[in-house]
Amino acid sequence: MDENRAVVQAIQKLIHHPTNPWKEQLETLLKRADAGEDISVDAIDLLSQHDNVRRWMGEQVISSTTRLAGSDYESPAGSISHINASQQWVCPIKGCTVSLPVIQEGEDAPTCYIHNVLMVRLHKKG
Ligand SMILES: [Zn+2]
Repeated sequence: MDENRAVVQAIQKLIHHPTNPWKEQLETLLKRADAGEDISVDAIDLLSQHDNVRRWMGEQVISSTTRLAGSDYESPAGSISHINASQQWVCPIKGCTVSLPVIQEGEDAPTCYIHNVLMVRLHKKG
């Protein structure tokens, strides 16, 4: 999967986030992507305004591009990237990989767009 596709998929998830403040911009980006444009640079520009969302986006892109490559992705700097991992909402259904970034501490839980259940905060081990 190329980076643009991974970014588009991440935006399609993010657009379901009830707290996301970029709804209109994201819809515009998705329309441009539908028209065949590469929107990855603009999308990352927009989302870089928010540290945690930028991190989450980076993780989405890494996990989709490496999943396609079929290799076991190992974080290049395990403990450092662990500390810097984004704050996330995850779907409580086993095997579901949908995640969304926390945009505001204390925000309402978003809903998994596949299972239609409220998502839960990911608690890091250790
Ligand atoms: Zn789910």
